[in-house]
Amino acid sequence: MTDSRPSVAIVGGGIGGLFAANALIAHGLKVQVFEQAPALGEIGAGVFITPNSVRQLERVGLGPAVEKWGSRVGAGSRYFRDDGSTIAPVQVTDSKGWNATFGMHRADLVGFLAAALPPSVVFTDHRATGFSQEDKVARVTFANGAVVEADIVVGCDGIHSEMRPHVYPPSNPVFSGTVAYRGLVPHASLPGWPNDAWMMWLGRGKHFLAFPVRAGQLINFVGFVPADAQMKESWTAKGDPDALRAEFAGWDPRIERLLKLVDSTFKWALYDREPLPVWSKGRLTLLGDAAHPMLPHLGQGANQSIEDGMALATILSQADRDSAPAALAAYEQLRRERVAGVQRGARENGLRYDTMLGDERKRDAEIVAHASFRKTIYDHDVVVTAREAAAAL
Ligand code: FAD
Repeated sequence: MTDSRPSVAIVGGGIGGLFAANALIAHGLKVQVFEQAPALGEIGAGVFITPNSVRQLERVGLGPAVEKWGSRVGAGSRYFRDDGSTIAPVQVTDSKGWNATFGMHRADLVGFLAAALPPSVVFTDHRATGFSQEDKVARVTFANGAVVEADIVVGCDGIHSEMRPHVYPPSNPVFSGTVAYRGLVPHASLPGWPNDAWMMWLGRGKHFLAFPVRAGQLINFVGFVPADAQMKESWTAKGDPDALRAEFAGWDPRIERLLKLVDSTFKWALYDREPLPVWSKGRLTLLGDAAHPMLPHLGQGANQSIEDGMALATILSQADRDSAPAALAAYEQLRRERVAGVQRGARENGLRYDTMLGDERKRDAEIVAHASFRKTIYDHDVVVTAREAAAAL
């Protein structure tokens, strides 16, 4: 008997592509991942993962890895004013009280997503340069001369996606006017600093975030500040620790204490895109930042890419080679509106964090009220709706 299930080629081995590969394999599909870099890896910085994606990581058997590498944050998590006074607790559970919010080192997350895949699924040194499709087959060409055919291609190749223009005409990313200084400090050098709390300080035009990663061994920090003229032209650059310290001089002494330990940092210009009106064309679809790059102010870019991967796998597992394009349309239909809401919400929340939507009293009231919006994000279980979509194929 021939296997009628669609084969899948994933372009991009970041968090989105690697989780999608795990989810597709867990649903019995044949997958290959093509990554442009010579080795899988991630920058030395943190990512925060939340119940809506932890639920999906658990479903593919990665719950123990999340517990091992992550740093669960608890009830001591707080929003503060720039002077250090408390605004409100941070929502760390879903509405059922399930606490599955973890700080994670990006390299650890990518590491265990990759380690869970069978050998010979991931091909590094494969930079996709072209895409074509016919009625029954999709084809990706690579800079190294390789040509790969599959029933389905999933572009998981990030904000500068090479695959996206094959779905929708090219557009420019939108610059937010802010940059993020990111880095890590050893927890051992900060005696008394909580290694189970997500803490954010809010001021005018700036905000500062700290949370633990790597089982509490490191504290990840991010300082969000207005961009200077030079930064508008480069996406990432080495950041000057003294410039970062100057940005937050006079804020809560806890920030000063942490920043004293910083000897290197990276600056990221923060871009997103307008929500795309389409994600798929025939046998090609998009996932993660390729489909919906968003600002980090709801901490959802990676979490939404994990939801995408589980939705895609759930729906595609009910398709055959012929119905695979209809399955991609159903995946897009399921995901596009929800993610566009999160994209817009991230923009708005960044303005709120920077006290740009009103005065401090209004900001503080909105931060208190924000817990209920967080719950709507955290409660979502994409599998429930994906199963309904799959049943309607
Ligand atoms: P990427 O991580 O960009 O991966 C794309 C992969 O594709 C890369 O490996 C790249 O090398 C590869 N690639 C690119 N082009 C090609 C090609 N032509 N051929 C082959 N391979 C290719 N999200 C959260 O959920 N929580 C957070 O706390 C959070 N914090 C953030 C903080 C900051 C400051 C920033 C900037 C972002 C944050 N995000 C967060 C967002 C999150 O990092 C991204 O949404 C997520 O990493 C996107 O994953 P991805 O796999 O879709 O894309």
